[in-house]
Amino acid sequence: MTEEKSFPREIPQEIIEKIKKLREEIEYHNYRYYVLDSPVISDAEYDALMRELKKLEETYPELITPDSPTQRVGFKPAEGFKEVAHAEPMLSLDDAMSEEEVFEFDKRIKRFLNLPEEEPIEYTVEPKIDGVAIELVYENGVLTIGSTRGDGYVGEDVTNNIKTIKIIPLRLRKFTEDAPELPLRIDVRGEIYMNKDEFKRLNEERIHRGELPFANPRNAAAGSLRQLDPAITAKRKLDIFFYGVGRVENHNFKTQWEILQTLPKWGFKVNPYVKLVKNIKEVIEYHHYMEKIRDTLPYEIDGIVIKINDLSIWEKLGTKTRSPRYALAYKFQPTQVTTQLLDVIFQVGRTGAVTPVAILKPVQVGGVVVERATLHNEDFIKSLDIRIGDWVLVQRAGEVIPEIVMPIKERRTGVEKEISFPTHCPICGTKLIKKPEEAIWRCPNKGCYAQLVRKILHFASRNAMNIEGLGDKVAKDLVDKGLVQNIADIYYLKWEDFMKLSGFAYKKAKNLFEAIQKSKKTTLGRFIYALGIRHVGEAMAQLLAERFKTLEKLINVNMSDLMSIPGVGPEAAKSIIEFFKNDENQKIIQRLLEAGITFEEERKEEKPQLLKGLTFVFTGTLRSMSRDQAKQKIIELGGKISDSISKNTDYVVVGENPGSKYQKALQIGIKLINEEEFLKLIKD
Ligand code: NAD
Repeated sequence: MTEEKSFPREIPQEIIEKIKKLREEIEYHNYRYYVLDSPVISDAEYDALMRELKKLEETYPELITPDSPTQRVGFKPAEGFKEVAHAEPMLSLDDAMSEEEVFEFDKRIKRFLNLPEEEPIEYTVEPKIDGVAIELVYENGVLTIGSTRGDGYVGEDVTNNIKTIKIIPLRLRKFTEDAPELPLRIDVRGEIYMNKDEFKRLNEERIHRGELPFANPRNAAAGSLRQLDPAITAKRKLDIFFYGVGRVENHNFKTQWEILQTLPKWGFKVNPYVKLVKNIKEVIEYHHYMEKIRDTLPYEIDGIVIKINDLSIWEKLGTKTRSPRYALAYKFQPTQVTTQLLDVIFQVGRTGAVTPVAILKPVQVGGVVVERATLHNEDFIKSLDIRIGDWVLVQRAGEVIPEIVMPIKERRTGVEKEISFPTHCPICGTKLIKKPEEAIWRCPNKGCYAQLVRKILHFASRNAMNIEGLGDKVAKDLVDKGLVQNIADIYYLKWEDFMKLSGFAYKKAKNLFEAIQKSKKTTLGRFIYALGIRHVGEAMAQLLAERFKTLEKLINVNMSDLMSIPGVGPEAAKSIIEFFKNDENQKIIQRLLEAGITFEEERKEEKPQLLKGLTFVFTGTLRSMSRDQAKQKIIELGGKISDSISKNTDYVVVGENPGSKYQKALQIGIKLINEEEFLKLIKD
């Protein structure tokens, strides 16, 4: 019998070349990312390359080779590490960037299972922690080996490094009465991460030593864990959230939710935001919610992970070479991109601080075009040797001003130019000064145009004196025309002065005049904030107002009074004392008060006693408020607080990085609520 073979189709040479080039490029970036922990492009750019390759391979499947990066996970173990074979492969995840792709995932599963489209599938949803995947093997309850994911099949032995992370149990226990028996062997999987504060600290230290910082907490965590010397790992504060299991002997899990519920009972820390949802719509809602709170979490998340809850469906669906079919990473908008630094300008702020501002080749970050970013200060530029013309990694997170993270020196061509810092104020020409203990150059001229305009804007801003209509243009005009020389002058403007402002006719002048009069009735907290004292933000101004009650008391305060207030550090205390000691500031305050500024008490309404008879215990850190504020809320609503857990405790509020009370609560079986549930409770 002759075998019938169809003649392969002709593939254009440029497609073959393109695929080859993409694979080489991705391989290089994999090496930089997985082996060196030092990427030279952002994740979003990497993902774009990967998507391009995947698309070409979908069109030309005959060109797929087993060693294509689309078919492989991570990178083989680096030299120097002992290799560990995973009993079950540790795969990557398919990712989605849009709602459509998530709905399509749900539909695909239903098609596969022959389910009608309207039949809901239950999913677990979990934050996608941006860290390093790890597998820990426990035999008879004892940690025997810890390894990285590596290429999915063989990872790096990091057992000794793992053991330096305090939260990782070395021996398992049944922490609750209803905890199942410990399995004979269990391979537990989780994500090791570095929280944002520790990342900041570590990078500051590196920059100070003249080393390049880590691009993000993920690279920092990987770089800290994958050390041949565990003593280095021990110095970095790493943490972990567990989210799954590999091989398990003597225990049969039926759902992913059961896994997430059982792991803490054996001593594994699970993220408090994991959730079981009824259908794909709820998955989308969860994604929206997590994206909203993302910046307030103490650790980075780059999306959510969606997993089918029923493990028997996992078996039916199986896995592809690189990723399972039962799970999906639904990513957030990226926060980092690379672009070119075109120029640097120097801006003078309200307190005279001169900040270098990067002028960038416009670039989209998370749906917003970024053209400028802060370069912090001269030391930052010098230590990182940032040059004009450099490719730079830019970060934009939430409301925070975009910032340059670091230059990508590998992309230099030799035409880049050094940045020279000015010696004189770019606005008024006064010689700049710098205190030895500070990194910031300042313009000492209190009458400097730029400082005055910014002071006025701050004074008039919504959360300060709230003068509607006093924006950037008006502030500049008031200073340009010599009508305002300090913030107090605002209250001494005459009606004819308003008519002199550009673009002002009767109605606009009257509105601004009235807004200024209205602002005289304010609260002490707003007024303190409006004064623009260095290191005194809105929250601290409020704290000072509550503590001192009158302006006189605050003006005459001494260092020890201030330092006794929780939340006021030595820098702020010093700055407050200096501010009120200054003759000129005293005169300005005097004139403001003479202009008729009065303070009314912040009204506090009687709250309904919703939590009467209930006792709360806190463990871990809350994101949205301090522990004291949370306690205050409970007391206002009639509830009670206790420092320790007993049978009388009604709720344990579990924040980030919970301590031993978390385990104790599990043991006694007290209701645990996360921050989201706590907020709902005090709101309802
Ligand atoms: P991934 O990070 O997109 O997703 C898989 C990983 O998510 C898992 O291995 C696990 O470690 C982690 N994870 C976190 N929380 C989880 C949870 N609750 N449940 C399950 N898993 C969870 O995939 P990857 O293969 O690890 O890495 C690919 C990604 O890495 C790319 O999309 C890109 O963003 C980045 N990357 C960047 C570069 C670069 O040069 N910038 C190079 C290579 C890879």
